[in-house]
Amino acid sequence: MPQSKNSIRLAADLQSDSIVDGPGLRIVIWTQGCGHNCKGCQNPQTWDFKGGALVPIDMVLEAIDEVDYNTGVTFSGGDPMYQPDACNKIAEYCKEKGYNIWVYTGFTFEEIMEMSKKKPIYKKFLQNIDVLVDGKYVERKRDLNLLFRGSSNQRLIDVPKTLKYKEIELFDEEKYLEEDKLQRPKTYI
Ligand code: SF4
Repeated sequence: MPQSKNSIRLAADLQSDSIVDGPGLRIVIWTQGCGHNCKGCQNPQTWDFKGGALVPIDMVLEAIDEVDYNTGVTFSGGDPMYQPDACNKIAEYCKEKGYNIWVYTGFTFEEIMEMSKKKPIYKKFLQNIDVLVDGKYVERKRDLNLLFRGSSNQRLIDVPKTLKYKEIELFDEEKYLEEDKLQRPKTYI
């Protein structure tokens, strides 16, 4: 199927049970295509811009409708920023349904803002994102203790606040960890 505005190139089927790509139980949309070539990338099979499968966006939305117990949607890959139009359509739909949106990208927030000067769709997509996990994966900065990211150069950016205050505002990790602790059932051994 040729690339069109109504399709998205995906690396895999929608995942509906992730607990490691953002808070809570999340749907993950695995986009295909990435040009960052990070050393140590865990998903090199998602780099090929002609790989994976072209899927009609309507089919993705239908698959999202079939999931009714998740609180969030995460775009990962690959790099979703190579398909901003398609990802934004899906993000808009998910936002209307009340989902919290996280996006993983190898670009930095500043680079995306620069890209948006020529392609305003990037700014529109940002406006539908709650948290952007930005920057390439840097193997020498790998840290297994980091929350929801692989290397210490990557940031969990609170996008609505960052756009509002026009300076980088980070996701409140401490608050999240405190709330997460309260929600987990106590174990009695
Ligand atoms: S941005 Fe992500 S998918 Fe792309 S090469 Fe880097 S780690 Fe791999």
